[in-house]
Amino acid sequence: MTWEIVIGLEVHAQLMTHSKIFSGASTAYGAQPNTQACAVDVGLPGVLPVMNREAALMAARFGLAVGATINRVSVFARKNYFYPDLPKGYQISQFEIPVVSGGTLEIHTPEGEKTIRITRAHLEEDAGKSLHEQFRGMTGIDLNRAGTPLLEIVSEPDMRSPAEAVSYLRKLHSLVRTLEICDGNMQEGSFRCDANISIRRHGDKTLGTRTELKNINSFRFVERALHHEIERQIAVVEDGGDIIQETRLYDPERDQTRSMRSKEEAHDYRYFPDPDLPPLVISEADLEQLRRELPELPDAQLARFISDYDLGADEAVQLTSQKEIADYYENAVTKAGGETRLTANWINGELMSWLNRSNTAFTDSPVSPTMLGQLVQRILDKTISGKIAKEVFQAMWNGEGSADEVIASRGLTQITDSSAIEQVVSDVIARFPDQSEQIRAGQEKVIGFLVGQVMKATSGKANPQTVNDILKKQLLS
Ligand code: ADP
Ligand code: MG
Repeated sequence: MTWEIVIGLEVHAQLMTHSKIFSGASTAYGAQPNTQACAVDVGLPGVLPVMNREAALMAARFGLAVGATINRVSVFARKNYFYPDLPKGYQISQFEIPVVSGGTLEIHTPEGEKTIRITRAHLEEDAGKSLHEQFRGMTGIDLNRAGTPLLEIVSEPDMRSPAEAVSYLRKLHSLVRTLEICDGNMQEGSFRCDANISIRRHGDKTLGTRTELKNINSFRFVERALHHEIERQIAVVEDGGDIIQETRLYDPERDQTRSMRSKEEAHDYRYFPDPDLPPLVISEADLEQLRRELPELPDAQLARFISDYDLGADEAVQLTSQKEIADYYENAVTKAGGETRLTANWINGELMSWLNRSNTAFTDSPVSPTMLGQLVQRILDKTISGKIAKEVFQAMWNGEGSADEVIASRGLTQITDSSAIEQVVSDVIARFPDQSEQIRAGQEKVIGFLVGQVMKATSGKANPQTVNDILKKQLLS
């Protein structure tokens, strides 16, 4: 392909503080409009913002986790623009000196691990929301969201495909949730992404003109929106045209992007330090404590899963992609008597597919880690075969009880008594003389057919290996 794709992402992560970044109003989602906006949030004259320390410490926590520089003194600035959902006429953000500078994130790509550089992460307040649907011919303004703390995380233009962009987003999503600084709820807008994208000829040193895609609130849409935009840009350039630097909106219903505003119409924000707020200071003692309290990070967890649990990289990536999955797995392993690989198989296979099909979250799985662990134990101790285990799993899913209860109530225990199997094997040999003769004549492959017949006769409850051994003994010795 002639074209190299260049992508840089700006992510807004809503910080999980109880109160707003510069006021004491609640940040809880879903309240009646304007019931959670105080005098500071609605921009009444004469009130003063007071910095929420918790938000600053969360930003620093993020910085430590990505190996960034935490600026010990950072500055809040006013970003001036007019919009109905911004009654003050400016948004408080950080500009020249953000709280976090630099840092990196490792992503998993089909070609291996890749490092994406983070430019900066800065604190800012969210704006309110315009409501267009409820009122005919009018727009309503809900200021509940005004003043909600956001951490804007800006990446370098280091991604080279939509898949890499999604990989980066997933990694960041998992990280902020592990750090417990953002709940990651994309439907509620707690984790939103603007994607900047350009193309250039392979080997070119300078970057092409970029467009910015807004309004993408799911991993799937990010990938789709980027693909569309790449195709559009290539078509424009190959037609002899130029890319205009502009903001485009992704419309998931029509599955296309359209222009929102061009850079010529872009605002001059006239940033200047906010005189109402002192510089944000983070002390060495704060950092020490944050370092001590840092949880195990996704990369470390991934490495530990691969080495301690003897898992393949892809398997471990799946299991560590969400905190809930990793917790589920580690609980199930304990309950399975320490068996790691079979447990991983069952989670990544059967459990995932049932959860996906019914759109159920891991934390709401009707099959608990304890139940899955016991199921794995019953496979290992040969009480049931892997095939019967699927039946047991389905019964557990449908609320028929634990693995042991299902095995007992449905009479699924594997026949381990070899004299009972010997009897069935003799019957099968008698019923299929031709096939038995072929095996005696050296066509060992045919044995599979007889094993199948014995399994059928025992409703799948015989151990296939034992059946195989007994058949060979009876036919070949
Ligand atoms: P702005 O201040 O206008 O938002 P920035 O320089 O801060 O612009 O860049 C915003 C984002 O755009 C960053 O994530 C950056 O990596 C990305 N970016 C910048 N230039 C390009 C480009 N030519 N192609 C793709 N992404 C780009
Ligand atoms: Mg920007």
